Amino acid sequence: MCMCRFGGVCMNGCVSVCVCTYKCLCPCSPVIECNTQDLQSILNILYILNELLTVGGGRRIGVFVSKGGTGILLQLVISASKESPPSEEVMLQLHSVLAKVGQKDRKFGVKARLNGALNVTVNLLKQNLQNYKLLLPCLLVLQVYSSNTVNAVSLGKNGVVELMFKIIGPYSKKNTSLLKVSLDTLGALLKSKTNAQRAVVHVPVLLYIYQDWHRNDTRHRHILIRKGILSCLKNITNIKLGRKAFIDADGMRILYNTSTECLSVRTLDPLINTSSLIMRKCFPKNRLPLPTIKSVFHHQLLHVPAGGPVAQLYNQPLGMDDVVDESDNNEEAEAENDMENEVEEKDHHNDDIETDINKLRPKETHSRPFEELKIYERFFMELSEDFQVMQYTFVSLKGVTATPAAPKSHRPIIVPTAQALPPKTPTAAPLQGECPHPAPVPALDLDTINITKDQDGCGDHTHSRTHPGAGLEQELVQGLERVSLDGAGPQGGGGGGNKHNRQPPILAGGVASSEEGVLHVPDTALLLPLHDPDLYVEMVKSTSSVPQFSEVAYPDYFGHVAPTSREHILERVYGVQRTKIFQDIERLIHPNDILDKVVYDLDIQSCPVVDGGESLKFNSQFESGNLRKAVQVRKFEYDLVLNSDINSNHYHQWFYFEVSGMRVGAPYRFNIINCEKSNSQFNYGMQVLMYSVQEAISGRPRWVRTGTDICYYKNHFSRSSIAAGGQKGKSYYTMTFSMTFNHKDDVCYFAYHYPYTYSTLKMHLQKLEALRTPQTYLREDVLCETLGGNSCPLLTITAMPESTSNDQICQFRNRPLVFLSSRVHPGETNASWVMKGTLEFLMGSSPLAHSLREAYIFKIVPMLNPDGVVNGNHRCSLSGEDLNRQWQNPSPELHPTIYHTKSLLQYLAAIQRAPLVFCDYHGHSRKKNVFMYGCSLKETVWETNISATSCELHEDLGYRTLPKILSQMAPAFSLASCSFVVERSKEATARVVVWREIGVQRSYTMESTLCGCDQGKYKGLQIGTRELEEMGAQFCVALLRLKRLTSPLKLRNHAHLLDVESDLTETRCKVQSLAGPLKDIQRLVPKPLLRCLGCVLRVVVLLGGEPSPQSEVLSTLEQVFIKDLSVLCSFHLSLVPD
Ligand SMILES: [Zn+2]
Repeated sequence: MCMCRFGGVCMNGCVSVCVCTYKCLCPCSPVIECNTQDLQSILNILYILNELLTVGGGRRIGVFVSKGGTGILLQLVISASKESPPSEEVMLQLHSVLAKVGQKDRKFGVKARLNGALNVTVNLLKQNLQNYKLLLPCLLVLQVYSSNTVNAVSLGKNGVVELMFKIIGPYSKKNTSLLKVSLDTLGALLKSKTNAQRAVVHVPVLLYIYQDWHRNDTRHRHILIRKGILSCLKNITNIKLGRKAFIDADGMRILYNTSTECLSVRTLDPLINTSSLIMRKCFPKNRLPLPTIKSVFHHQLLHVPAGGPVAQLYNQPLGMDDVVDESDNNEEAEAENDMENEVEEKDHHNDDIETDINKLRPKETHSRPFEELKIYERFFMELSEDFQVMQYTFVSLKGVTATPAAPKSHRPIIVPTAQALPPKTPTAAPLQGECPHPAPVPALDLDTINITKDQDGCGDHTHSRTHPGAGLEQELVQGLERVSLDGAGPQGGGGGGNKHNRQPPILAGGVASSEEGVLHVPDTALLLPLHDPDLYVEMVKSTSSVPQFSEVAYPDYFGHVAPTSREHILERVYGVQRTKIFQDIERLIHPNDILDKVVYDLDIQSCPVVDGGESLKFNSQFESGNLRKAVQVRKFEYDLVLNSDINSNHYHQWFYFEVSGMRVGAPYRFNIINCEKSNSQFNYGMQVLMYSVQEAISGRPRWVRTGTDICYYKNHFSRSSIAAGGQKGKSYYTMTFSMTFNHKDDVCYFAYHYPYTYSTLKMHLQKLEALRTPQTYLREDVLCETLGGNSCPLLTITAMPESTSNDQICQFRNRPLVFLSSRVHPGETNASWVMKGTLEFLMGSSPLAHSLREAYIFKIVPMLNPDGVVNGNHRCSLSGEDLNRQWQNPSPELHPTIYHTKSLLQYLAAIQRAPLVFCDYHGHSRKKNVFMYGCSLKETVWETNISATSCELHEDLGYRTLPKILSQMAPAFSLASCSFVVERSKEATARVVVWREIGVQRSYTMESTLCGCDQGKYKGLQIGTRELEEMGAQFCVALLRLKRLTSPLKLRNHAHLLDVESDLTETRCKVQSLAGPLKDIQRLVPKPLLRCLGCVLRVVVLLGGEPSPQSEVLSTLEQVFIKDLSVLCSFHLSLVPD
């Protein structure tokens, strides 16, 4: 072993030379005393090392580092520094080697600090600022030192930040690599906040240097230097002082101008992107243009629980500004990845998995006393029906529209008989003296349908919007007007309140008086069997809204006929977000171009009058509408602010509003500026929906996906911590889209997703009732009244017994129950469309539908949150709460629909009739396809790695059957997106509570995408109502198949059921080949199960004697999976030794 001061380090494995002389062999060679003071020999060693490490890639350096080479070099630095003066050549060579080694040694920074080498390098630099030859290697080493945060702080204290500013400078052709390294070093140092503070004074210098390079580097040879300068600015502006200095130094204008000049050169994108990042960060935060973020409308609750969200919201001191915080400064640099092509959101669900095994087990029920639940018996008449009087009259539509003035009650109300609907007026020419209905007339001659609140007010309601006026008014009269329930009053202003004394408005005249005054209604009867405009208006009259909406939106009135053309998921155009952000920044750069004109404002009693044709007209005062304010920013650009959910101060995402007064061909840009979610499918190809009234009356009544230049990004409107869960420094997000209109005098509607109002539901239910055949048992009860005074319908659908024989009655009563619900979240209108598909299928006349009705009793609550839907909420009910977080302990006063729905289920559990399947339909805003969430103790435990031995966890795998079947027949459905893990944050949702408390093993949430599909037949297409309704129908077919797979053998002989397979083909429900390739199976079965898949595969092969062809084995396996997953599971358990 060499005993020299270098410690006898081998260069390469076990037999090599010591660095001291490269002569002494290790370990058996005789010791040679090295003369380390011999400068020349040190240099020689360094030369050789330099050469050795330059070639051979990183491998040699790796070996050198692993043998402790770094430490020796650093020691040498120290000893060399003690010479006076230190040998320049030794230092130069040493640092050259260190620069190479440092990049490969992850602990280089720490080692250098512990060895005390940092200061040696720094001092060397300070003394040799003009010595470019020495400077470069020293800077390279310094750059590596600085990447360690502790080092960065310590170097900053030693004046290195200042030092770097002495080296960097304006454009020069000389020493560019030196400059580049200095900038990189500086950039690394400035990641420390204290260093950034030191550099704040240099912001103007950096901006000046950047401009200088921008101007002179015309051939773009030094992009890295320019990028380096920007990186320094980026890091300095992470702190508030830095942002202020940047603004003071006119940084916005400088970076905006330089970036604009770079736009044409694609290779300069990194510069533009970094500039844009800095500008967004420094953009002065604006407040939303609102007096308060509380919803414009307030609904006075009868019971306001202290400490609840509503109490908190309305107990704020008067006059308090809740729009921004006083100290709203985001000191922290916010995530920098929300640029072009932003990263998909992280899967953060892992920390949300329920790990408390007791919460995963069925709840030891301290269930409610049966006496208390007994009142719910009346909702289950079918369970005791004896049909001794075999008449079908008992099945009739009950009372959805009948109880407008019913007192609020937390007890279920049954309205005994339906209030007969007013007889329908023929759609032909209105009769004298009757309330005329809109009638078909030559197109384009439309006007108001005025609907007054007077019961008898037929004649004299022609006043409202038909009188001719000048300019735009005239144009609009000749063009279009809105359907309105005239005379209903207040524009909100926080009032709301007292809506129970509303008289049902009725259709009134107004159309007869003028020649233009007749509305041409598209005849959609053939295409939309469940739609009827007149009936819709009737339904609206009995709908209670907090703002007391007095108008009806055309799309809801006319109906929507799904287009037959395919609507592809948009491919995002490169640079869209950047362009939009630059346009936003221009507001600051060219403030004089900004109009800032309020054209619509619910906070002001009288919405601003719009002048002649210079601005668009907005309106959102109809069911499910929720636009609060529109500000014209530029000639063709509008900022739109959405209203919060009633009795809340946030939840903005859903939108539905009307636009008129547009210019044909003008490039309009709309920005919804108070979105809250951090990302959106609008960034991944989803378009907004638009409904053109001109198109509708030309025979194309439909919502279409539209809009270009769509993107969704964080904006410069700051979000008060009050509405951000206490977090300060949050911003809102902008959802922007551009649009050119094709028709003059059009009225267009925009929506987040296909609207589906509560009144639409009521209309559909009435029409469905008409579809009922004598073989169908349909009952509609009013489950309860909502806080807003709307009825919550409960449907019972099954088949009438074939006869009144005991057997038949017994079969009838003992059919398993399926419990479905939907639309607890008002913004998820897709859930209602899926439910429409389900209901329409269930009520249909196909043999399949009949089999289904014979197989089950369906209990359906099609809209769990009518109030939220009516009032344009996104998430909540009138209690200001997410109803799908109240299932653990719903309050009869605050959450009546949840309380009573849960009670129905508790009643069923109490009489041992818990449903076979429970499914709550939802919409998902961030994922594609349709999929399910279920509950599995096992899969939850598997995910969490809790140590629970398998034998503790016996679980029937039946919960997988339904999603599995769905994935085989529903093209939009994706099994891969399903999850059966129970999350902590979901413990109060319907799915988890029904699973755990009611004991329903097949308890699901079915989520439908708002965007489109990325697999299956609809891959690459946006989803439409046709696909959503189809999904609802296929859900039914899947239930039938589930029935076959779960029934006792004798039932399989049932004629209808035997034909399922062929029926499936007939109904275009494609059954996937059972023998898919292995990887498909792997994709479809959960990972933990795959372990047993292997076992099963072997066993199947063994049992079959000769190895069967793979496809056969797989086919067998697939059947095993479908038929009896639980068998497979126990099989697995028996095979796995521990
Ligand atoms: Zn939902």
